[in-house]
Amino acid sequence: MTENIKKHTYLFVALAGYNPFSIPNDIIKRIAKLITRKEEWSNSVKRNDQNFELDFAPYERQKLRHEPVIEETLAKLSDEGIAETLDCLRPVWPDGKRMAAVLTHDVDHLVPYSMLDRVRSFRTFPEASVFRKGVLLYSAAKACFKSIAGYKRWVSLDEWIEMEENCGAKSTFYFFGQPVPSPHPKDSNYRYTDKARWQETFINVKNIIKNIENRGWEVGLHGSYKSYNDGEKLRVEKQNLDSVSENRVNTCRQHYLRYDIKHTPQVHQNVGLEADTTLGSNVSLDFRAGTGLPFFMFDIEHDKEVNVLQVPLIIHDVALMGNQQMTPELALNRCMEVVDRCRKYGGAITVLWHNSYTHDSAYTKVYQALIEYLSECDAWGCTVTQMNHWWRKRRRTAEEWLSENY
Ligand SMILES: [Zn+2]
Repeated sequence: MTENIKKHTYLFVALAGYNPFSIPNDIIKRIAKLITRKEEWSNSVKRNDQNFELDFAPYERQKLRHEPVIEETLAKLSDEGIAETLDCLRPVWPDGKRMAAVLTHDVDHLVPYSMLDRVRSFRTFPEASVFRKGVLLYSAAKACFKSIAGYKRWVSLDEWIEMEENCGAKSTFYFFGQPVPSPHPKDSNYRYTDKARWQETFINVKNIIKNIENRGWEVGLHGSYKSYNDGEKLRVEKQNLDSVSENRVNTCRQHYLRYDIKHTPQVHQNVGLEADTTLGSNVSLDFRAGTGLPFFMFDIEHDKEVNVLQVPLIIHDVALMGNQQMTPELALNRCMEVVDRCRKYGGAITVLWHNSYTHDSAYTKVYQALIEYLSECDAWGCTVTQMNHWWRKRRRTAEEWLSENY
């Protein structure tokens, strides 16, 4: 462990509300490995060319994939009278809330079975795989049929907001930076001039973005499929979204959770993004870094911190009900278990729930029940930017404390 990694880890422990000097060195080393993502630096294999999954980790690590092991370890040390709490960094959450829940939605699509979307998707036809070509053709035929036969409408973005407002929470909506330069067949194709539903009427996506921001919710960047390691591409996408946003866009999540520890944090930093929430799983409800707490990224190769806050993704709708094929009851029970664990240690979780569901969809009902449960659990339901500001403000206190005591 280098001196920089040690300081980086001490800062993280202080931000978790504990005195890092009271933590045994072997535990500091274990935490350092997890938050610098050492296992990803030394293992470049990715599932479906998308991201690192804990399936690739040793069994000992896999056994604990569903646990916030860092929060658990620190709490245990505290119970044993070893870890001291740090008064200047407590309470950990605003207004003394018991835990934090960062709520997010990836806006991959806005209009069900949009013919316009399908037509635009044919731009990517030449580079699509045979399978993907089939998917494009099938989607176009289905959109055509549905537009004639009629379709059930989706929960509109104002309705997701309403749901969250009733639970005293806010969320972040991740939009594509359209038009995406040289899109991949898996990318989305809406435009800011397209019309989508908002409060029982149809308005431009551009105005939907403005309305979301005016309500106090956040609009962030959903980096396209090929942008996770391409700074120029992501820069254009960010500029596109910035041009229709009232605020400067400063947080993101990559489409399909595509991520490369050696490039993505640097790409985010270079385009001026302050926080990212891509580090999660497409297959399971995992604590990929052993924590639900935010942490700053670290470049092991150059032994220095990257100025991008990672807000790790824990609950992912597609992993639960898509990949794991859970029934709605099971999915909700698993989510509640995670919330309970997190509340026990006063930690944080980040939730990704896509927006493209109908009112009677099980996905919509599970989300509704989940945010109601979070409210009952006295969770701070916040946007990624709110978390970013809160954590950076506390970080200044942690740095001062550390410079006096290190
Ligand atoms: Zn996406």
